[in-house]
Amino acid sequence: MNFLEERILKDGIVKEGNVLKVDSFLNHQMDISLFNEMGKEWKKRFEGKPINKILTIEASGIGIACVAAQHFNVPVVFAKKSKSINIEGDMYVAEVESFTHKNVNQVIVSKKFLSPDDHILIIDDFLANGCALQGLISIIHDANATVEGIGIAIEKGFQVGGRAIRNLGYQLESLAIVESMDASTGHVEFRQQ
Ligand code: 5GP
Repeated sequence: MNFLEERILKDGIVKEGNVLKVDSFLNHQMDISLFNEMGKEWKKRFEGKPINKILTIEASGIGIACVAAQHFNVPVVFAKKSKSINIEGDMYVAEVESFTHKNVNQVIVSKKFLSPDDHILIIDDFLANGCALQGLISIIHDANATVEGIGIAIEKGFQVGGRAIRNLGYQLESLAIVESMDASTGHVEFRQQ
């Protein structure tokens, strides 16, 4: 069992509706030493890839991406959630359905910050149905930039996102893959990696 799996067993709480609550260390209070270990691990797993930028999505991805970026020595761009209907032409736009809030957000990235020269590592906290990732990938494609890989902290392997993204041929590195979880017992099982 790795360091993140151990932490999930210690401090994660399984909620109804396939939601794993990790707000004491990952996405509300943040354990920066843990983020640092995660960054180190992604650096190892993406060794040799010409990554020059990290892309994430607000809000929970930002802290994780920033700590990871110190291992890659690259800037971080985050896609902003926007309610505005009149998006100006200088933005890349994608629609993302939120798994936790069940609404659709437009996410935007300024055209200033993505170019065809960019080789991008996408980082996010969770992978569930893959909507957030699909949105980020479509923005990268619109910019004619390259997806070098995807680093996820916690993948819920029983939801469809991971398989869909791997079938598209991307190198997806999830540090913990939850195979099953049960809100009534609190039991969490991980996929062997
Ligand atoms: P997806 O777009 O893959 O369906 O969902 C990914 C996004 O939903 C993540 O960025 C994360 O913010 C949120 N999310 C999905 N599942 C969970 C979960 O079990 N717990 C928490 N805390 N967030 C989740």
